[in-house]
Parts: sequence; structure tokens; C-alpha cells
Amino acid sequence: MRLPILTEPDRPREACGVFATWNHPEPARAAYYGLFALQHRGQESAGIATTNGREITRHTGMGLVSQVFSADDLERLDEYARQARPDDRGSAIGHNRYSTTGSSSEDNAQPMQCLFASGPMAIAHNGNVVNAHLLRGELEARGHIFHTTSDTEVVLQLIADAASDQSDDPLGAALQQLRGAFSLVFLFDDHVEVARDPWGWRPLVLGQDKDGALIAASETVALDVLGAEFIREVEPGEIVRLDDTGFSSRHYGEAPATRAHCVFEHVYFASPASRVFGKSVQVVREELGRRLAQEAPVAADLVTPMPDSGRSAATGYARESGLPYREVIIPNRYVGRTFIKPTDEERRAAVRLKLNIISDAVAGKRVIVVDDSIVRGTTTRLKMDQLREAGVAEIHLRISCPPIQNPCYFGVDFAQRDRLIAAQHNVEEIRTMLGVDSLHFLTLAGLLANASSDQTPAEDFCTACYSGNYPIPVDGKLNKEIFHR
Ligand code: SF4
Repeated sequence: MRLPILTEPDRPREACGVFATWNHPEPARAAYYGLFALQHRGQESAGIATTNGREITRHTGMGLVSQVFSADDLERLDEYARQARPDDRGSAIGHNRYSTTGSSSEDNAQPMQCLFASGPMAIAHNGNVVNAHLLRGELEARGHIFHTTSDTEVVLQLIADAASDQSDDPLGAALQQLRGAFSLVFLFDDHVEVARDPWGWRPLVLGQDKDGALIAASETVALDVLGAEFIREVEPGEIVRLDDTGFSSRHYGEAPATRAHCVFEHVYFASPASRVFGKSVQVVREELGRRLAQEAPVAADLVTPMPDSGRSAATGYARESGLPYREVIIPNRYVGRTFIKPTDEERRAAVRLKLNIISDAVAGKRVIVVDDSIVRGTTTRLKMDQLREAGVAEIHLRISCPPIQNPCYFGVDFAQRDRLIAAQHNVEEIRTMLGVDSLHFLTLAGLLANASSDQTPAEDFCTACYSGNYPIPVDGKLNKEIFHR
């Protein structure tokens, strides 16, 4: 059986990246650099909000961080923020978006902002709230009017609702009602707050630079670009306030029986330059490759990564197997969108534009190709075809995570179940469909053995896309367009 050739992206896509800073001389510029470092977490839209101590302003747009902000935009945001304090320092929050609930449109770009009786607030969100549609229905029945199709607006309206009920802690009261994944940053006129869901699905870290600016971000790589020191992770179920007294902490709601850190952050999403859930992502990925070599050794002439996602694991595989590591699949980094006619030959040409095979290095060779995951398999098949055309004698494909058999409802845009190749076919069938000589997916035990640590034991990871064991009940009909009428 041959796979259809599709032009849709065949890579998992992450929900978002978030950033916040307090007491920074150029808070918008700091957010800009932080968002640059977090660009891998979302490429659809970006935004930064700052406050002048009375009101909030923001700049958002569709596209990459480099496309959304000009130097003038950043200067305007920083000028505004410096009005908040006599020492010319200010605060900002920022966001990179890939939509997992709500459409990809400027209306849904974040940070979102609103005005409460107590003052202005802006919010930015990474994750996916699985009961947002139910909460929205209840709020609408009570007269709340929604302006977007994003689950983040539900959070905003819950806070407004709790505030009007005179709650001592409107933020904590709102967050207690949410189920699912959320790492949130909030900008108020006189402080910043950040919060993480009680299961700890998505990462969120705290840091401080040498001049005393406080920072929170999705990943440590955003601290590194600002020369800031990593302080600690925000704990699951914790709200941290950033103000002139430093970081202050409170917890909301009851702690669930288990944590649910997304193990796929280690496999694919997080930057290899980050530390996530207590471990270096690069080191974990190399170890996954080493484990793959132990689980599925094969006689071959060289090990090569699928660029760029398989590079870390391929390094580990080569080291463990003692085989030479060579990069023979070379990406063309300057190809953006390709405008192609809907024929198989044109689509093959588009893939050839994006990847070149060094045929002199592979002709007649037995090649082990290492990649991090297979979602639908369509792009993988085209790449395997290219290797064959370049004269490779044998292709042994090694994947550094188990087969993805179930959709994710917690902030990763895996295709629906009927588009996941491993939900429809066993490993031997997939091997035949991809046209490779052997295929091995890393076992779940192997993945967890390397991702876990003293800080994060194996049972504290979410593995639902592999195992089907969802840490909380989910409605199987959920999808990103749930709020569309
Ligand atoms: S289902 Fe998979 S991708 Fe989604 S949170 Fe769980 S481990 Fe991560």
C-alpha cells in the first residue's frame, strides 16, 4: 500500500510560548528576545503587551517574531512601559502562538487584554483547557459576551466573574475551575503574575538577570538569551507574583493525585538548548538515540539524522553503535512556502526543493536514518523515496519515541486519530508503506527510563498519545474549532 502525497505539514505543532518580565529597563525588547528564543513553540502569531502603570497597550500580528515587530514598535512599547515607574524600568508579557483551540486569526493573537473595575489586565497562554467549551457555555448563559474563538478568553472571563463575586483571590478562584494544560502569564498595572496547571503539563520557569529584572518563560533557553540565571520551575498548581519584593508564591485548588508532564516536550518540542522538567533536552535526546541502538541494532555503514529533528538522537545512536555519523540529508534553509500544482510529480519536486541527498555519500550504502517521530508518515515516505533514488542499498529507519496512536488534547496539534498512521496500521504495515528495510520505534519503557529523573519520576509524565492513558477524562470530540458556530 502506498501513502497519498499530501501538502499539509506533517510535523507535530506546539501550542505556544509565553514570556513575562518585571522591572526591566527595556521590557518589550527583553520580551522580543525571549520570544525569538521560543519561536519553535509557535509561528502563527506573536504579541507583546506593556503597561504605563495605568493602562495596558499591546502590539500583535500574524507571522514570526521577526515579521511582527519593527524597531519602532519595540521603542514605542518600551517608552510606554518606562512611564510606569520613576526609575524608568517597566514590565511586559509576550506570546508566540500556534492555535490549538480557536482559529489562526489576528483576533485570537495574544496577549489578550481587558479592563476590570480594579484595573487593566493582559493574559497570554500556553496549553489547552479541555473543559473550556463547557465553562464558556455556563458563562454565556450568565450573560458574558465572547469576542474570540480562543479558550484563553474563557480564562479571562472566569477571572472577571470571580472578581465581580468579590473573591479574595479572583485568579486562584478562576484557575481552580480549569481542566487541562495551561502555563499562563498575566500583566497588571502594578505587578505580573504567572501560573501553571496542577498537572504541570507544559513547562514554565523563573529567572533573574544580574540587574535584578525578574523573568518567567516557557523554557530556560529564553533566560539564556537574556543572560538571566535560572531560579526554579513554577510548581504545578502554583501562582507566582513578580513585583518589587521579588517572587512570591501561593497555591490554588487541590493537588491532583498525579502529575502529567508532557513527555513529548523531551522528544520533540522543547529546544535542545533548554532544561525541561529537571533535565537537559539535548542530553535526553542523545540518550533516547543510545537506547534505540540498544533496542534495535542492525548491520549498516552509517547513521544519519532526519534534519533537524533527528540530529540529537542520531548522535546518540551512532555513539552507542560505533557506526560513523554522517549528515547526508541536507535541508535547504531558504525555502519558505512553495506554490505547487496539485500533482504527485509537483509535490515530489517541492520535497526535493526542501531536501537534498548527498548521493556520493550514500550510493550502495546501508543507511540507518534516525528521526524523532512519525505522525501521518506522508513526508517520511517522500524522504525515503529520495534516498532510494540516490542509490541507497538498505534503509533502516529508527524513531526515538513509540508509535503515536492517540490524539493530544493538551496543547499539541496531533492530527485526529484517523490521520495518525500508527493508529491505523501496525509497525510491519508502516514499514511496507514507507518502503524501508527495517523500522523500529523506541519502546515507551525506553522513553520513560531516559526522560525521568529523581525530580520527575516516570509516573509523573503524560504518555497519552502513545499509551491512550489520559491523565484526566477528555471529550473525544474536542478539536481546535470547538468554539466555531
Ligand atoms: S498526549 Fe502526548 S503530546 Fe499530548 S501532552 Fe500527553 S504526552 Fe504530550
